[in-house]
Parts: sequence; C-alpha cells; structure tokens
Amino acid sequence: MIYLNGDFMPIEEARIPVLDRGFIFGDGVYEVIPVYSRKPFRLAEHLRRLQHSLDGIRLRNPHAIGEWTHLLEQIIAGNESNDQSLYLHVTRGVAKRDHAFPKAVSPTVFIMSNPLLTPPEEWLETGVAAITSTDNRWLRCDVKAISLLPNVLLRQMAIDADAMETVLLRDGYMTEGAASNIFVVKDDVLLAPPKNHLMLPGITYDVILELAAARKIPHEVREVSEEEVRSAEELLLTSSTKEILPITRLDGKPVGNGRPGALFAMLYELYQEYKITVMRGGDTLVETS
Ligand code: PMP
Repeated sequence: MIYLNGDFMPIEEARIPVLDRGFIFGDGVYEVIPVYSRKPFRLAEHLRRLQHSLDGIRLRNPHAIGEWTHLLEQIIAGNESNDQSLYLHVTRGVAKRDHAFPKAVSPTVFIMSNPLLTPPEEWLETGVAAITSTDNRWLRCDVKAISLLPNVLLRQMAIDADAMETVLLRDGYMTEGAASNIFVVKDDVLLAPPKNHLMLPGITYDVILELAAARKIPHEVREVSEEEVRSAEELLLTSSTKEILPITRLDGKPVGNGRPGALFAMLYELYQEYKITVMRGGDTLVETS
C-alpha cells in the first residue's frame, strides 16, 4: 500500500501526471526512513532533514510533523514486513513546463514502503569493494534532492567495476559515497568529514558519531584527505538501509589488512545494540563524554 496525495492505494494504481515537476525537472526532495519491528528509526531526525531539504529548494512543507507521523504509521501498518524501508517524496507539483516556480500549485506527496533487507552476511564478514571517483555533483549535496543523476552515474561506475560503492573525492578531500557516508580509520582514530554543503548529513552518520562519543572511541570530525583515504586502516560505509559496512578493497587494493577491522566490529555491535534499545522504546544514548 502506498500513499499519494491524500489517498492510500496499491502501487499499481498510483498515477502521476507527466507535467509533474518531479518528472520534468527533478524538482523535489525525499527521505528514506528505516523501520525496525514496525517502529520508524530516528523519525524526528529524518523529518528535520526533510524540512532542511524543503527549505533548500524553497518548497513549503505540505505537512506538520504530526501529520507526517500519522501518514507514515498508516503506511507501516498497511505493509507486510516488520522491518521496512519508507520512501517519502515531495515534488513542487504539476504545472505547465516553465523553470520558474508556478504561482499556485499543490506539491505532490508520495510515500511507499519496501521490505528492509539487511546486508548479506558475506558483506559483513569479508567487507565490500569500492572505487574512487571525482565528486562531480552540485554544491548543495546537503539537500536530499530527487534529481540523483550524478549519484546514479557514480554508483553505476562502481557496479561496472564489480564494486558496491563509489567513494567521492573533491579537491583532494573525501566527501561521501554515491549513496552513503564514509568514515576513515587512521592511527586508530575514527575520522568523519564535517557536515557541510558538500555531503548529505546522514542520520546513520550521526548515530555512529554519537555512539563513538558515548563509548569514548577516539574520533575526529575534520576534512579527510585523499591520501588518508588511500592509506586508511579501515574504511566504513554508513546509510539507513546498509547500516554500517566495512569497505575492504578500494580501487582494487586491500584496505588495511584487507579484512573488516576492529573499529568496524565494535561500531557494528554498538549499532545493533542501539537499534534494540530504540525498538524497546528507549531512544537515548548514554553520553559519557
Ligand atoms: N549520502 C548520500 C548521497 C546518500 O544518498 C545517503 C543515503 N542513501 C547517505 C549519505 C546516508 O544517509 P542516511 O544515513 O541518512 O541514510
């Protein structure tokens, strides 16, 4: 069951006019929210980022937080899996094709759910391969825009090279992955690039940094150079659907000793524990720093 502009229906019945600005211009934003045991994970944070993205494209939020929550609850209830991946999408609506914003138009709101598939065991045990490429995206990567053509092309480069992700480099520094955030372990310190206009402020990225702070894992938020990426002891990939994964090959070469590292193992365990705490209703990290 999906939601489209006020109605719930099977996805096969959903129709969008061809003049929707999402279709014509990619003029819209989206969110992907993981659901564990029918509870949305970090919902407030996802809805806050949605507001940031809407502000970034100057589109009024069509729903208050309570309304979004209610719509999402109905979609969760209307779909089979206990663990789901919610996809929520807002475009500037349907109007005669013209780059300028239409005067009066209602946004298109679409929500769907897919079963949340946890990464295969093999990825956790042996890690995944990644390649590097120049980050050729626009300068508002903090906006979760539906116009994902650069990300699509960058991700496909990885697939064509039998890898899972493309790590993006801009002006000698690492930004993120084509569809993930990237952490680097160097001299036993977890390094994360600072949140700015060059990367998506990942919800999983925040959880990982909060866990690192709570458990006193040495970490630094600062620019990470290409050289540090290439000589990393560990590379970690995070996203709402992939959670946390070890990258064990980069551009065909082993990362560190070529096996998932100690920091990955620790953060993976902490993440799973934290998820269970959240599902049981306690959403607080014990901040000990
Ligand atoms: N960066 C990009 C470009 C992404 O598309 C994503 C999400 N797929 C992320 C980072 C990770 O963000 P989150 O942890 O909120 O899923």
